Amino acid sequence: MKIIHDKQAMRVWAIAEKAKGRSIGFVPTMGALHEGHASLVRAAVERDDVTVASVFVNPTQFAPHEDLDSYPRTFEEDCALLEKLGVDIVYAPDAETMYPEGYATYVTVEGLSEGLCSLTRPHFFRGVATVVTKLFCTVLPDRAYFGQKDAQQCAIIKRMAEDLDLAVEIVEMPIIRETDGLAMSSRNRYLSAEERQKALNISAALRRAQAMLAAGERDGAAIVNAVREGMAPLDIDYVVLVDARTMVPVDRICGEVLLAVAANMGSARLIDNIKFAVPQDNEAALEMTAKENVPCC
Ligand code: AMP
Repeated sequence: MKIIHDKQAMRVWAIAEKAKGRSIGFVPTMGALHEGHASLVRAAVERDDVTVASVFVNPTQFAPHEDLDSYPRTFEEDCALLEKLGVDIVYAPDAETMYPEGYATYVTVEGLSEGLCSLTRPHFFRGVATVVTKLFCTVLPDRAYFGQKDAQQCAIIKRMAEDLDLAVEIVEMPIIRETDGLAMSSRNRYLSAEERQKALNISAALRRAQAMLAAGERDGAAIVNAVREGMAPLDIDYVVLVDARTMVPVDRICGEVLLAVAANMGSARLIDNIKFAVPQDNEAALEMTAKENVPCC
């Protein structure tokens, strides 16, 4: 495994691999890696001919009051894990190279970037879309792997890739959880034992909602209220039910929906979600109802 810091060297390597007809799988990360990141890397190693993982704590997605300086940095451990997983290149540019003096260009994905996490982090998705575009321009991936853990981010990157005609397939991978249900996150290490215990209310509330959905509940407010109740001991940022593709809030559950939550816990901000697709035969029944002129969703 090679570690590349230089933009130009990264691109030269990527062009050479492409010239050999090899597909490049890419996993962008901010480091402090855990099993969630590892699952993306495993998918890339299995599917693509060569794999690049980037480790870059991107300053443009942090507001001045956020945790850019204290964000966990464990580069050596990250590299050891990535090597074990079979990564070919770790791309680790520095902030000065990514955003040199005079840097002035940003990517904004409208609509999708306006609700959920944007309400409290309005700067965030512009920073993410910009850095991902820049990384794509250097790594030249055929496929890039992202986690459903950051579902709004995934939807935005997919939209961006489509809108900008980027020649990359965006692959969304499932959320990896600790055995007790807590969604893995680099920021979980900020939690005290007591906070971590309290944080389990999040996944427990989502599991209950999943059971309600599976049992046929189709009223959005009933689901959202149940999750709010389950997360009551926490400082809730949002609990929303949206269309999984457009991120537009829905009242009735139809097609594929995303139930997404965020809460503040000490110095950590925790997000989690589940997706639910109304089963086909259920959809057909709903369509029949709609044809009979009864509003369904
Ligand atoms: P980050 O290092 O937090 O920027 O995350 C890098 C990538 O790992 C993003 O695509 C995340 O969605 C993904 N990721 C983070 N946590 C998890 C998790 N628990 N399960 C699956 N993917 C994850």
